[in-house]
Order: sequence, then structure tokens, then C-alpha cells
Amino acid sequence: MSQELHPITKAIRIQTERSQQNEHSTPLYLTSSFIFDEAETMRAAFADENDSNIYSRFSNPNVDEFITKMCALEGAEDGFATSTGMSAVFSSFMALLQNGDHLICSSSVFGSTFGIVNKYLPRYGITCTLVPANDKAAWEAAVQPNTKMLYIETPTNPQLEVIDLEWAGQFCKKHNLIYNVDNCFATPLLQKPIDFGADIVIHSATKWIDGQGRVLGGIIVGRKDLIKDIYLFCRNTGPALAPFNAWVLSKSLETLDVRLERHCANALKIAKALQSNPNVGWVKYPFLEGHPQYDIAKKQMKAGGGVLCFEINGGVEAGRKFLDSLQLLSVTANLGDSRSIASHPASTTHSKLTDAERAEVGITPGLIRISAGLEYADDVLNDITQALEKSQG
Ligand SMILES: *Cc1c(COP(=O)(O)O)cnc(C)c1O
Repeated sequence: MSQELHPITKAIRIQTERSQQNEHSTPLYLTSSFIFDEAETMRAAFADENDSNIYSRFSNPNVDEFITKMCALEGAEDGFATSTGMSAVFSSFMALLQNGDHLICSSSVFGSTFGIVNKYLPRYGITCTLVPANDKAAWEAAVQPNTKMLYIETPTNPQLEVIDLEWAGQFCKKHNLIYNVDNCFATPLLQKPIDFGADIVIHSATKWIDGQGRVLGGIIVGRKDLIKDIYLFCRNTGPALAPFNAWVLSKSLETLDVRLERHCANALKIAKALQSNPNVGWVKYPFLEGHPQYDIAKKQMKAGGGVLCFEINGGVEAGRKFLDSLQLLSVTANLGDSRSIASHPASTTHSKLTDAERAEVGITPGLIRISAGLEYADDVLNDITQALEKSQG
């Protein structure tokens, strides 16, 4: 075909070269290493003179297929897939930063990412300034002569703040920073940070990309020179993605676009309905008009994503009762599943913090996060509505 294929088609049609069996679906390459017929080809492989597979910690056909599809979707030059989203985040820091470097990080980031930048990076002489997601003056004030990277997430978890990717791109250009974006919540089908100048894009593939709560996985894609450094770091330190997980994730990309359509439609429908619920204080969803960054969300996202959050009246106690009263929704520590999931950060992920500390990271006592699944939307909404009523007793 003469025409360049659309990335959605590529995510379905990119495939490891067929074996002599002429299989339709890619087979699983469960092998630790790959053989060489001649000493010379093995020497050349180790010298990076050819791209033969050597060992599955470095590369594997299933993993490569997943990476190639993700690069097509994100518009990236190259990538490396990792065992989890967190190993992708950690490897991007360790491979690109060194003793004496400074990092600027949005204060609303995933909890484990927060832990890495606050607890572990300082041990290696890498300091970090946390800045509120949309406080542009604070970002400017945070820049130091040794600032090397900006790290952000948008939309953020669980507060769903939206950061202006275009503005952040200009900020990085102006200060010559590596622009590193965790695109987990939006996926490349709703938002492409590279279009706004991102150098590195990270995913927890565990979430929407798998989409069925089965496997853990992560990926880093972006600029070729930076990915080369990340690849060399990972090849030595070993956070490789397992071939089986890569096979699952690569297959999952074939349905990501259609799944997201339903996830987003369900989330928007639930968010809209909850706005008029008497047991709810406020509702937040990037594509609801009342969202503080609605205009930015509309500018940079194709749809609002599968996650919404709301404040239940009655605080922590009502939040706990709400979870106990759900009959259909799952109460579990994940998101991005075909099954809708509810969580209450104040009594779970953030329960060890004081009220003041929680307020600082935007966790209000009655905050409920909903990951909208693929079920019939009214069934999900009816369950939420009845649990809201019971929560007030
Ligand atoms: C879950 C998550 C991660 C971590 O991914 P794992 O696959 O669980 O290691 C990182 N960032 C965001 C935004 C996430 O939601």
C-alpha cells in the first residue's frame, strides 16, 4: 500500500515476522537466549553491528513487537519495555540523571513515583523540587543551574488535574530540560505528549493498555539518543518485560482504541449524572465543563479518559460505608480494567498521612475515585447511586 497507515491500524497490524508455521497470531517466544550459527555473527551481535537477539534481558521478539506498536502510537523514535510502570519511571531517572543533577516534579504524581523522587534519588545526590501542577510561577522559581529534567503526569492521579503539555514543552525548551511525561492516564490514543515536545513518555502498561487487570508491564518511548542511554542502563540492571506479558500487552493494543471509546463514554456519563446527586459535594472529570482546566483538557486530549472522582458528603466515614455498600463495582487497588473499580484514598492508599498532609497532596476526606469499566453504564451508575444513599445512613 502506498499510503502510510494510521497508528490505530499499525497497533493492530504490526507483527513479528512469521515463522515457518505461518501462524496468524504472533507465537510466544519463551526463550532466555538466542543461538548463533557462527562465532562471527555472535561477535557482531555483541558489538552492536547487527540487531540479532542475544538474550531476553536485552531484547525479545514479543517485547519488540509491543515496543514497535507503542512507538507507532506515541509517534516515538524508539523505546524500551519494562517489567512494571515503576521500573520504567525509575529507569528513566537513573539512566538520564546523575549525582549533582536537579529534577523538577509536579507534586501530584503517582505515590511510588513520589517515593522515588523524595526518598531514593536524594541518596544518589539527585535533588528534586516539587511544584504544584498548575503554578507556573513556582515552576519558574524552581529552576536551578543544575536542573536537568521536568517530570509530570497529566491527568494526575487521583485528583485529575490537567497540566498544559504545550506550556510545559516551552518551559523545558527555554531551560534546556529533558521533558519526561507519564502518559498512563490518557494513553497515546487520547493524548500524545511528543506532539508538545516531550522527550520521554512513560507508561504503566498494567492499566489501560492491558485493560483487563492481568499482567504488570511498563514502557519508555521517546528520543532515540535518550532511549539508547535507557536501553544500556536496563540491559545491565535487568528490569526487562517478560515475553508472556509483552504478548498479552501487544494483543491488548489491538483493542485499545475501541475499549477507550467505551471507557470514556461511561466515565463522562457517570460524571454528568453524579453532578446532580444530593450525596455528592463535587465531581471532577477532565471533560466536564466545571473542571478547572477544562479548556486545556479539550485542547490536548481527544476524550476525558476513564477515571473520574467525586467528593462524597460525610467525609471518611461515608467513604468507607460507600465502599462497603457497593454490589457491582470492585474495591481493588488497580484502575484501567474492563470492570469498574472504586477506591477511597483517605482510608486506604493515603491513610497513614495526617489530614493536613492529605490536604497538601489534594486528598480530601470523602474523595472517591472511579475507574469506569466496560459494563453497561447504567448498571455502574445504579450501583454507585444506591451505595451513595446507603453511605449517608
Ligand atoms: C500505576 C501507575 C504507575 C505504576 O505502574 P505499575 O505498573 O503499577 O508499576 C505509574 N504511574 C501511574 C500514573 C500509575 O497509575
